Amino acid sequence: MSALQIHQFACLDDNYGYLLHDPDAGLTASIDSPDAAAIERELAARGWKLDYILNTHHHADHAGGNLALKARTGCSIVGARADAERIPGIDVLVGEGDSFALGKHNARIIETPGHTRAHICYLFEADRAAFVGDTLFSMGCGRLFEGTPTQMWASLQKITQLPDETRIYCAHEYTQSNGRFALSLEPDSPALQARIREVATLRAAGQPTVPSTLGTEKATNPFLRPASPELRARLGLATATDTEVFAETRRRKDQF
Ligand code: ZN
Ligand code: FE
Repeated sequence: MSALQIHQFACLDDNYGYLLHDPDAGLTASIDSPDAAAIERELAARGWKLDYILNTHHHADHAGGNLALKARTGCSIVGARADAERIPGIDVLVGEGDSFALGKHNARIIETPGHTRAHICYLFEADRAAFVGDTLFSMGCGRLFEGTPTQMWASLQKITQLPDETRIYCAHEYTQSNGRFALSLEPDSPALQARIREVATLRAAGQPTVPSTLGTEKATNPFLRPASPELRARLGLATATDTEVFAETRRRKDQF
């Protein structure tokens, strides 16, 4: 079985598009549809035909290209059953524990409410690749537009169950500004300092900082580190629950 091919490209202001291709089956899926024209260009450059759009959530920078791409390619659109009325053109309704197969490459779907009430992630576990939309960013997490901190913390903990080497494909290049916030909470962390230097070098060279790995995120992402004594001390929450620390971290980021 050939490896799953993942083609990543920047689009819109700071989104990443992802085309997944199984060369054995000749099948291609796009994670979300941030920019229909950019996706068509990238497909054409590879000679790939779009078979599926895998939506993480309904926001325009994720599902805004659904209808145009479906009209032009006849692709099927996969999205959250719980958000069927907000996913344009949805054909295949999925929820927690369902799987999606691109040829022989399987994704497990997990529901990760918080950013929106029905956000989902696609975990290609055998391929060690997780497409997490706007739930988890490198050194950050999505804003809580429709969910509570308790929901989002539970969602993030589903992702952190994966092996540390799992590549985390998030939907935006927000890493450098997220790093500034992270450093304000754990200024003495050598892992964080090293990641921030790496990110600065990549961005100066015009390179993406995504994908990250789950191991890197567990070591540097303040939203995955409510147990950190240094972070707790900064927040004045030494004895709070992890959920309370997560909630306060999110609240501070909104004001940073
Ligand atoms: Zn979003
Ligand atoms: Fe987004």
